[in-house]
Amino acid sequence: ADSHAAPRETLGPRLVKEALYTYVRPEITQSPELLAVSDRALQDLGLDPSEASTEDFKHVVAGNKLLTWDEDTKEGIYPWAQCYGGYQFGQWAGQLGDGRAISLFETTDPDTQTRYEIQLKGAGRTPYSRFADGKAVLRSSIREFVVSEYLNAIHIPTTRALALTLAPRSKVVRERMEPGAIVTRFAQSWVRFGTFDLPRTRGDRKTLRKIADYTGEHIYGGWDKLPSKLPPGDAKDTHQDVKTGLNKDAIEGGAGEEENRYTRLYRAIVRANARTVAHWQAYGFMNGVLNTDNTSILGLSIDFGPFAFLDTFDPMYTPNHDDHMLRYSYRNQPTIIWWNLVRLGEALGELMGQGPKVDDPTFVEKGIEEKDADELVKRAEGIIDRAGEEYKAVFMGQYRALMTARLGLKSFEEEDFQELFSELLDFLEAYGLDFHHAFRRLGYIKVADLETEQSRKDVAGRFFRSGEAPRQEAESRERIAKWLGKWAARVKEDWGESADGERSLAMEKVNPKFVPRSWILDELIDRVEKKGERDILQNIMKMNLNPYDEHWGWDEGEEERFCGDVPKYKGMMQCSCSS
Ligand code: AMP
Ligand code: MG
Ligand code: MG
Repeated sequence: ADSHAAPRETLGPRLVKEALYTYVRPEITQSPELLAVSDRALQDLGLDPSEASTEDFKHVVAGNKLLTWDEDTKEGIYPWAQCYGGYQFGQWAGQLGDGRAISLFETTDPDTQTRYEIQLKGAGRTPYSRFADGKAVLRSSIREFVVSEYLNAIHIPTTRALALTLAPRSKVVRERMEPGAIVTRFAQSWVRFGTFDLPRTRGDRKTLRKIADYTGEHIYGGWDKLPSKLPPGDAKDTHQDVKTGLNKDAIEGGAGEEENRYTRLYRAIVRANARTVAHWQAYGFMNGVLNTDNTSILGLSIDFGPFAFLDTFDPMYTPNHDDHMLRYSYRNQPTIIWWNLVRLGEALGELMGQGPKVDDPTFVEKGIEEKDADELVKRAEGIIDRAGEEYKAVFMGQYRALMTARLGLKSFEEEDFQELFSELLDFLEAYGLDFHHAFRRLGYIKVADLETEQSRKDVAGRFFRSGEAPRQEAESRERIAKWLGKWAARVKEDWGESADGERSLAMEKVNPKFVPRSWILDELIDRVEKKGERDILQNIMKMNLNPYDEHWGWDEGEEERFCGDVPKYKGMMQCSCSS
């Protein structure tokens, strides 16, 4: 879509109309210190690890050197900041935009041909900074750097992080004076729902269609890549729909012949987000601020502010200190992403409602009359409703598939949902037990050790904090033992002879041993920021990038501490996150 040029000298916060980005370059960072680089990110961008130690690299990721812009000839690709709006906590917040993020250029992974947009966060003010300083503090930058790469390591769609830079001369004022930092991040796209909300609320149909076309053609790789007619499947065939995520209702209710490219695009976005939120639920991740400006058009986990992983299983937990209504709590995430998807459906409503005629690229939007607009929006409501069914089906299919694998099962049976999934979560919640340890430790348990009632009660103790049973010890052992009995029966059914060997290995690959919990990130921040440690970042990153491993060749005591019980009073922390 169109851009809006702005040389840095004339820069100030402003409303930008009929354009979705502004050219703006990062501010110069004095004496940058490269704190960390993600090896996995280097690999995925096709960069040689040796490049990361060059002066050039350091100055590119600090925003000092522009790789794609020739300062002399004034030619090439100039950096830009995106314009978008958003609904924050359910209220329309108007124009937001990249207030401190600046995109540098695009590059392609030579192995997978995936295209990425490289961006600096905390690189200085842009026309979208409003009243803020365009900077990011070190603590929030460490958090984003670590969690982006972790989510990717556990196969959850996410924006990525390449490098973390300290800006030692840049003091940022928050609750106190803090060091500034820059995260070099990348994603297949940074376009969010808010990118559509803004032209929609302004009645800017031309820009809306442009960004919709750009999303279909470039971000999703072409209209032919989008789902067309809803694929066949069967509601009862729950294994089939682990792939398609579809049930019969969704199929029969398909938009069918009326579907145009925007409806298909919308459905692709719905499906991508359903899959991602299912991953969050299965792995206990919370974004903490799921506003529409923080919801990705590709279903990536995006914008890491007061995010957290669960420690114990508490569905009402929200990591966001200001989220008094629990809008962004663990249990609400699927509902909130759907709420955001409905806003997107409304933005695309007039385009979806017009049927196949808008597929013609030469079709020009004539001024739509009020009464026509009403009719189009009504038609779109039907499309959005059916997409809602698809959302539920894809979410459930994905969630089931992930939980099935996490419990070490090969197949899913209807009763598993209640008897194994729900009952596990219920007893974890009832006795305040650790969510992540439950899965990892289940992987180590031998079915052969669960033959008798007494042995099951003994094994139940492995879910407890080390050396510490819950208050209701007898009751909890009994309840967990009962569950273990059912679980062992299902495992034997699925695996037969290899119930302990192969099954155990399979579980290790889906149940991470390391999780970057809030207390760990806090300690990491403290040691880097206050104590000036540097090695700790590299060591945590080893675990972070290979979280399924058993050992990492670091200090064994430290490894076990970071993978062990959450220290007393450091569980389920909240973040007020002025970042
Ligand atoms: P977030 O809460 O991170 O989604 O941010 C909401 C909006 O505020 C986005 O447009 C951000 O770019 C902007 N913003 C947040 N912090 C800053 C900052 N320090 N400087 C400029 N803009 C900011
Ligand atoms: Mg945001
Ligand atoms: Mg943020």
